Amino acid sequence: MAHEAAATSGTADKLVIRNIGLLLSGDIHAPILDADTIVAIGGHITFVGRRADADVENAQCVIDAKGCALAPGLIDSHVHPVAGDWTPRQNQLGWIDSCLHGGVTTMISAGEVHMPGRPKDIVGLKAFAITAQRIFNGFRPSGVKVHAGAPVIEQGMVEEDFKDLAAAGVRLLGEVGLGSVKDGRTAREMVAWARKYGIQSTIHTGGPSIPGSGLIDKDVILAADADIIGHINGGHTALPDAQITCLCESCGRGLELVHNGNERAALHTLRVASGLGQLERIILGTDAPAGSGVQPLGILRMIALLAGVGGVAPEIAFCFATGNTARMRELDCGLIEAGRSADFVFMDKAQQSAGGNLLESVALGDLPGVGMTVIDGVVRSHRSRNTPPATVVPEIVNSL
Ligand SMILES: [Zn+2]
Repeated sequence: MAHEAAATSGTADKLVIRNIGLLLSGDIHAPILDADTIVAIGGHITFVGRRADADVENAQCVIDAKGCALAPGLIDSHVHPVAGDWTPRQNQLGWIDSCLHGGVTTMISAGEVHMPGRPKDIVGLKAFAITAQRIFNGFRPSGVKVHAGAPVIEQGMVEEDFKDLAAAGVRLLGEVGLGSVKDGRTAREMVAWARKYGIQSTIHTGGPSIPGSGLIDKDVILAADADIIGHINGGHTALPDAQITCLCESCGRGLELVHNGNERAALHTLRVASGLGQLERIILGTDAPAGSGVQPLGILRMIALLAGVGGVAPEIAFCFATGNTARMRELDCGLIEAGRSADFVFMDKAQQSAGGNLLESVALGDLPGVGMTVIDGVVRSHRSRNTPPATVVPEIVNSL
């Protein structure tokens, strides 16, 4: 058992990555770093800079990036996990591993709502949330960090319930609006209790996503004041443009765009946020697994959509799925800087892309090829089985 645990959660002692051709920082204020070498010790970044300045002695693992791009591992801000790497929603096994091959190293649960027989009574939903937090904390599918245990609030919950949940390790609420609380006043009270005890909140936005869910419009969203306006581009049914504009202008909360949403509404949100000078509010998710399925490349596809059609600079679009999310979700990954988790995705332009390099290819709407992923300083995957093939892939060389 100890061996098995080490295989999924072990950390490398010292990792050196050299010959990075393009270093995407994840920081929207400085998205490209002038550096070619990263050193990580014990799963955390200790050095970012030029090779001549790096202490590379006694590295257990050396990766030659061969001029590829490196970015923080991508963060999917909106998933619905159930148990391990299984989802009953589309009867799939291995969906999280497939997403790792799309560059995703961290996932945030918006509620474990697809669990067959999910309890909706208060003691049951609390027990279930605590269980989900524990099981994903105890098992990382293919090394992916799944932050789960996100209860869906129901009528009748009191402040003590949120205090209990926080004391038991729950840090997230599932999408507000998926349960029986659909009015702004009750949602606001419960979201405030959650916040008081350090529990972050997300609210469903737009029309019903599947039979049984309902409409949440801008008035409920503004009243509830959750930390993240979940899938502001609908899931899939979006609010009218005027309501989306109003949400962007009337509050400072996170603007989450998902793959399982309305693409036109995502582009509208991007334009409004850009006009407000508030692109740091945009974060990306897939909402997988959902009615339209699991998209292993969903986060990369959102980046390519927002860059290729939305016209945002590709290096900024990568920040939507890394540093922006990390800051808003209070994660220790998502940025290339000393002290952060050594969670990386290596990419290059896909073979035969019309773009001259990675950023040009994404600006043209092409997906990048993923060549390798690293989580906590440990290589988790090599050439992606899902992206189009990267032109160049990094290599473990184990010698400088
Ligand atoms: Zn939703």
